[in-house]
Amino acid sequence: MDHLYQTDLEVFRALKAEILRQTGQLEMIASENFASEAVMEAEGSVFMNKYAEGYPGGRYYGGCQNMDVVERLAVERLNTLFGSEYANVQPHSGSQANMAVYFAVLRPGDTILSMDLAHGGHLTHGAPVSFSGRLFNPVFYGVSRETETIDYDQVAELARRHRPRMIVAGASAYPRVIDFAAFRAIADEVGAYLMVDMAHIAGLVAAGIHPSPVPFAHFVTSTTHKTLRGPRGGFILTSEAHGRLVDSQIFPGIQGGPLMQVIAAKAVAFKEALAPGFKAYQQQVVRNAAKLAEVLQAGGFRLVSGGTDNHLLLVDLGNRGLTGREAEAVLERAGITVNKNAIPFDPQPPRVTSGIRIGTPAVTTRGMKEAEMEEIGGYIVDLLTRPEAALADEIRPRVQALCGRFPLYRDRLAAYEA
Ligand code: PLP
Repeated sequence: MDHLYQTDLEVFRALKAEILRQTGQLEMIASENFASEAVMEAEGSVFMNKYAEGYPGGRYYGGCQNMDVVERLAVERLNTLFGSEYANVQPHSGSQANMAVYFAVLRPGDTILSMDLAHGGHLTHGAPVSFSGRLFNPVFYGVSRETETIDYDQVAELARRHRPRMIVAGASAYPRVIDFAAFRAIADEVGAYLMVDMAHIAGLVAAGIHPSPVPFAHFVTSTTHKTLRGPRGGFILTSEAHGRLVDSQIFPGIQGGPLMQVIAAKAVAFKEALAPGFKAYQQQVVRNAAKLAEVLQAGGFRLVSGGTDNHLLLVDLGNRGLTGREAEAVLERAGITVNKNAIPFDPQPPRVTSGIRIGTPAVTTRGMKEAEMEEIGGYIVDLLTRPEAALADEIRPRVQALCGRFPLYRDRLAAYEA
């Protein structure tokens, strides 16, 4: 880090503070993870200096031979990972992957049927503050009050009534398995396209732990940085029949030059996901979430839908006299980072909420298992039962000691401390 230190001490200091933060606290935001050193090396590389508009074999710039190598590797590996026919690895983000698919088959004003943000959906699935809600006509399905799981009868009923051109499945805060076959049957009945946004569960799908949407969806979109543990970015999977259309919507439709350093890092991450250890990692992610759920429930906390099948849980704090915002703050003080999150039918406004979302992908990457989930769950129960600064300050060194037992980015840390 000598160069950065010499050139820009302010950024160097912020970076050092951030690596200390990431390594010294428990990262339990469900959408975050720790990419490997190999992924970060690829991203922090000279690939970033190159324009490569177009696609392998058909670029608008000279000198793209090495760009073609890494992009082809990323595409081939991704198709192998998910058993898909056609992949586009250029979306800069999950949001842009979704935008490109919408632009491929929808016209402004078309109806989309997607999961309500307030029930766990994503902004880009039609929220009024997002381009998706401004350009299209969203109709929302949600979870049933009784089970807090997706109400497929309601999805079918809304589809018949509104005849959407596209149905969107996938969520940001949904702890249960999603039935993609049921969505496809509904889409077929009303003649709609089915897009599955598997951003949160892509790693579980790659490992065969969550059913794959690939056989059922016309389009599958995802991010690469959540359970999949790659660099920040997105991708789209589709059939040969729709591939060219999707490509043209990413470039030149909504993006210019691809971020080749990110595509190189995606290729590395996909190789890691194809390696044998990845399945064991994802299994541990799910086991850790289940253990945490068990500890929180034993501590008297209600979980939305009564538990979890995947990498995250939603805790309802409504009956504990605590808001999501307060819970997030007291956990943060103790070194446990989570996010406040609306629960279905939440009486609190979105900036306050009655819930928190907790995820296990990042702590599992550090090597933590059920025993550590017992310890962390115990801290969470204590802190949410007695949300006092003094208790958080008492737990903080114990959290730090736990992090110390599961080191992360050791060489980087040493380089900053030198
Ligand atoms: N789709 C889902 C389901 C997500 O949870 C997210 C991010 O949280 C996105 C899309 C958007 O991804 P990005 O932040 O890369 O635009």
